Amino acid sequence: MTKKHHHKGGCHCGNIHFIFDTDIAVPKIIHRCCTCRFCRKQGARYTSDPKGILNVTISEKDNINCYRFGHKTADFIFCKTCGTMPLITSEIDGNTYAVLNVNCLNNNGQLQDGDQKFSYDAEKTEDRLARRKKRWIGKIVFH
Ligand SMILES: [Zn+2]
Repeated sequence: MTKKHHHKGGCHCGNIHFIFDTDIAVPKIIHRCCTCRFCRKQGARYTSDPKGILNVTISEKDNINCYRFGHKTADFIFCKTCGTMPLITSEIDGNTYAVLNVNCLNNNGQLQDGDQKFSYDAEKTEDRLARRKKRWIGKIVFH
């Protein structure tokens, strides 16, 4: 089904490029800050749409780094050239789920102020995966 919006974004140098198909306009996009030590250091803010579709193009596949820590159930995908982290993916029951870093949207200047803060530190692994299945973008196409 065609979505109303096709938000473009990616890393700074263009190695990682994405198109986020969603019915949510950029000013209505909710951005969540995770309060874990990594996310606070990184300054990343995330969004997702369980009904959205994410197309990801990686030009130089050797030039990305997938960082894992903690529960090791998510890949924080960095571009090795420019150092930005446009998305996180998680493999759950054979499907890939993702959240975007809203800072990597090309139209990030249209985002509203006000981050929602969440702490997931106390969450058990199975609860974490169940939450991602419900809330993260469930249709990811890699090119
Ligand atoms: Zn880059």
